Amino acid sequence: MEHEELKKMFARVSIAARVKTSLVIVRGSQRNAWTDGKKVYVTTSLIESLPEDQVAAAVAHELGHIIGRHVPDTEKALEELRGRIYSDKKSEGIVSRAFIEGSIAVARQYRSRRHEFEADSIGETLTKWAGYGSGKMSETLNEIASEHKERSVLDSHPTTPERISKLQNQPRKIRIRIIRKT
Ligand SMILES: [Zn+2]
Repeated sequence: MEHEELKKMFARVSIAARVKTSLVIVRGSQRNAWTDGKKVYVTTSLIESLPEDQVAAAVAHELGHIIGRHVPDTEKALEELRGRIYSDKKSEGIVSRAFIEGSIAVARQYRSRRHEFEADSIGETLTKWAGYGSGKMSETLNEIASEHKERSVLDSHPTTPERISKLQNQPRKIRIRIIRKT
């Protein structure tokens, strides 16, 4: 994608999401997109190899994480959990530190899986609202799936078939929390 097209696409999707954010292009040979909860990052490889509607779906997925407040929520929830476990005197000496950290890792995993499904679902809706048609999220997941083959139960990302099947079986109406600033 040309930079001008990319700018227009990003405006379309972020306006559909009603999110004020910016897009950062990172040089990289892996097709990837991510967010720190504020900005959306995409690699040069992603924008160079995918058609506009699929780049839009990848960006919309990341906007889904921002709308869902996944990044700050997860860190806050895990800090609270850690604080609760360590402040519980009864657990001292019975459970080891490794066990506690292991439990937190599992909790992180669980939240992360849930967040991926949610971001897919919001992303699919945003892509549609931005005028790119439906089914773009599944298409994009399929397209980039080949690069991320190694999967385990504890992987932060659910497998592609799982994510696609969730997308296809989701109810028609989904609620999206949108906080408008007036
Ligand atoms: Zn994600």
